[in-house]
Amino acid sequence: MAIPIPSSVQQIGRELVIVWSDGKEDYLGLEMLRRNCPCAYCKGEQDLLGNVHRAPARPYGLGAFLLQTWQKVGGYAIQIFWADGHSDGIYSFEYLRRLGSQTQTA
Ligand SMILES: [Zn+2]
Repeated sequence: MAIPIPSSVQQIGRELVIVWSDGKEDYLGLEMLRRNCPCAYCKGEQDLLGNVHRAPARPYGLGAFLLQTWQKVGGYAIQIFWADGHSDGIYSFEYLRRLGSQTQTA
């Protein structure tokens, strides 16, 4: 089964609204997105034994939950640029879908 792709990505208020090619709509809170940033710095890196080395918790700075812009990456992901300058997070479509379903069940 092909992974759905976003047919539209739009910021509405404090949410990123993604309309998918299969018709599903996800409303992803910006703060939730930032807290789930998938980059190695935010998530910690796994060593060869599978241990995760988390970066020390760092308080989010001004603008951490403000979306500056985003861009599609290689047809499989969206890179999000936050207003505090952090832009390492590449959110794959699959990951965004997973975040979307978690938000709905929560
Ligand atoms: Zn990050």
